[in-house]
Amino acid sequence: MTEHLVDPGVPRDLHAFVAGLPKAELHVHHVGSASPRIVSELAARHPDSKVPTDPEALVDYFTFTDFAHFIDVYLSVVDLIRTPEDVRLLTYEVARDMARQQVRYAELTITPFSSTRRGIDEGAFMDAIEDARKAAEAEFGTVLRWCFDIPGEAGLESAEETTRLATDDRLRPEGLVSFGLGGPEIGVARPQFKPYFDRAIAAGLHSVPHAGETTGPQTVWDALTDLRAERIGHGTSSARDPELLAHLAERRIPLEVCPTSNIATRAVRSLDEHPVKEFVRAGVLVTINSDDPPMFGTDLNNEYAVAARLLGLDERGLADLAKDAVEASFLDAPGKARITDEIDTYTAAWLAS
Ligand SMILES: [Zn+2]
Repeated sequence: MTEHLVDPGVPRDLHAFVAGLPKAELHVHHVGSASPRIVSELAARHPDSKVPTDPEALVDYFTFTDFAHFIDVYLSVVDLIRTPEDVRLLTYEVARDMARQQVRYAELTITPFSSTRRGIDEGAFMDAIEDARKAAEAEFGTVLRWCFDIPGEAGLESAEETTRLATDDRLRPEGLVSFGLGGPEIGVARPQFKPYFDRAIAAGLHSVPHAGETTGPQTVWDALTDLRAERIGHGTSSARDPELLAHLAERRIPLEVCPTSNIATRAVRSLDEHPVKEFVRAGVLVTINSDDPPMFGTDLNNEYAVAARLLGLDERGLADLAKDAVEASFLDAPGKARITDEIDTYTAAWLAS
């Protein structure tokens, strides 16, 4: 899969460096991480679905005309997750793909409402993700944590349900660390979700809403003030507001930047116009992420290569980028130190060879 993703603007040995670099990923969606192999397996299990079973045809199916089209396609894949076994298979296989890219730690955004609404038993759903998490850590060495997100397009009913699933002590999975808000932003104002974020934060969860991906900087301000965001999903339009950039930099609020995703959904016209450079120049803590990698024809390693080109980074710069993601994560201090040490050891050995 990685061969076709090699960015021609990046030296080959930098690609090799990235491929072996230990990494953390903070913005990546559960269903959106389903590779064509996993999707075709799920589509074959559920033949009434309109999703193609042929991996070649899936490539065309995953070519989007705009953000609304992306949401439609995404929801058709969501519709393939119908049983606890589907949930476990997806989660475990996604972790396998991450481990192949040397991802040591990932906060995977899960939308439990999509599954419980389909009639999957909520307890069985939690058991399936936790079972996959423990197996992935034991077998692949990849530590997974969960962010439960509200699917914005499904309205306040979904917000209530997601909050309940995230805060009920009998249901809340051990791996849950944060609470998010995804889906379209246009027509889905952030402030209406304040009561739900208040409850999630009171229950000890971190606030990580999407904001400023397809709407302007005011949405990011809303996420900061009303939803008390600790990190911002995308935050792309922050670049249009110098005061906001200064605020993000001063408060050390990281942006979860997903370059290829922004192009695929037409949130940004081209990679060369991507504002990641402006974020770095303004002193904002940037983390690099893949969002819905197979759907956007990318993976985390490719996003690091893209970042290397856009930001002009060498090996040390890439290692710093990887360490920033570890720092911006909700992993505990010993866990952060372990991955940071691993990044330093790997980089020193690479540069010495
Ligand atoms: Zn996202």
